[in-house]
Amino acid sequence: MRLITEIKELRSEVAGWRDEGFSVGVVPTMGALHAGHMSLVQAGRGQNDRVVTTIFVNPTQFGENEDFDSYPNTRAADEARLKAAGVDVLFAPARSEIYPDGFSTRVIVDGLTDCLCGASRPGHFDGVTQVVCKLLNMAGADRAYFGEKDWQQLTVVRRMVRDLNIATEIVPVPTVRAPDGLALSSRNAYLSPEALAVAPRLAQALAEAAHDIRSGMAASGACAKATEAVLETGFAKVDYLECRTADGLETVEKPDTACRVFAAAHLETARLIDNWPV
Ligand code: AMP
Repeated sequence: MRLITEIKELRSEVAGWRDEGFSVGVVPTMGALHAGHMSLVQAGRGQNDRVVTTIFVNPTQFGENEDFDSYPNTRAADEARLKAAGVDVLFAPARSEIYPDGFSTRVIVDGLTDCLCGASRPGHFDGVTQVVCKLLNMAGADRAYFGEKDWQQLTVVRRMVRDLNIATEIVPVPTVRAPDGLALSSRNAYLSPEALAVAPRLAQALAEAAHDIRSGMAASGACAKATEAVLETGFAKVDYLECRTADGLETVEKPDTACRVFAAAHLETARLIDNWPV
């Protein structure tokens, strides 16, 4: 595995692969890798001749009082994992490489970014689309892999790629969970053993809400019941727990199209998100 920190080197490596006729997959991450990230890498490995993984903790997608400064960093272990998984290039640029002095361009996807995490983390998705647009332009890959765990992010990135005619196919990868149902997340590292015992309740509540809605309960009632259950188990705050359409993220009361239940909730210092198909 080759470690690359400069954009021009990444471009030249990928151009060399292209000359040889190789297909290329890219897996953007913020590091602190777990089995969820590795499932994206595995999907990329299976569908492409060459795989690039990026590690960049993007400052522009964090709010002022969020965890940018304390975001977990397990760099040595990340490198070992990626190498063992057969990744060809780890692209890990410095902040100044991505945002040089005078950087002033923003990428904004309207509409899809107003609800859910967009409402509770204003500006978050503007940072996500800004950095993902740049990373896709730098990698020039055939395919890019994104986790369904961050469903709204996946939806927003797909819309951006479509709207801006970026020539990379966005490939969704199912959420990897612990045996107790907890969606794997770098932020689970913030949780105490006691909180780790409570955390799976979020996924369980989403599954129950999805089941209730499928059984005919109105979505608002099912989501209110699930919110109460999450708060009762020890989560401090629920930012949202809502049923929305899978593609357009529109609210629905009686789903007649593909829908999902989405939630974000605070446990100790962690803000956990998850979603479940109805
Ligand atoms: P992050 O490093 O948290 O920004 O995540 C990088 C990529 O990994 C994103 O596309 C996430 O959706 C994806 N991802 C994170 N956790 C999981 C998981 N448990 N299962 C599948 N994909 C995941």
